[in-house]
Amino acid sequence: MATPSLNSRVQSLVTEYGVFWQFWPQFEQTHGERRLVGFEVELIGSHTSDLNHVDPTCRTCRHVRLVLLAIADFMPGDLTLSRKSVAYNIDSHSNSIVCLPALGNRSAVWVSIYFVLNRANGQSFETDLLNEVRTCLNRWGIHQR
Ligand SMILES: [Zn+2]
Repeated sequence: MATPSLNSRVQSLVTEYGVFWQFWPQFEQTHGERRLVGFEVELIGSHTSDLNHVDPTCRTCRHVRLVLLAIADFMPGDLTLSRKSVAYNIDSHSNSIVCLPALGNRSAVWVSIYFVLNRANGQSFETDLLNEVRTCLNRWGIHQR
């Protein structure tokens, strides 16, 4: 668990960088059957509304990425379900910047957390895990978009 002071520090950075998350299911096609194999949770943040700000060397962008990465590192440990044989990988997309239509084409940085499901996880597992992710991120003041 995070300490209250760390929590409030993270929450103020979340507000400052307008951090939100998105969710993408990942499917695999085998023998004509589509199967859910995992999902990706993207944490996205931006520090400026300047549309011309696309600078891979920007120190503040790097700081936004570090904050997102810290959240991504912390999150799986906070999920009880993740201890039930769910693998995850974190990709910080270092040196990459995206321009998001959802943000009016503002530049943003993002960190992806890939959860890898396996057959033993069962049917309702994905929903349960996603609910835990949502609850966890809500606590940090990060909402789905
Ligand atoms: Zn920047």
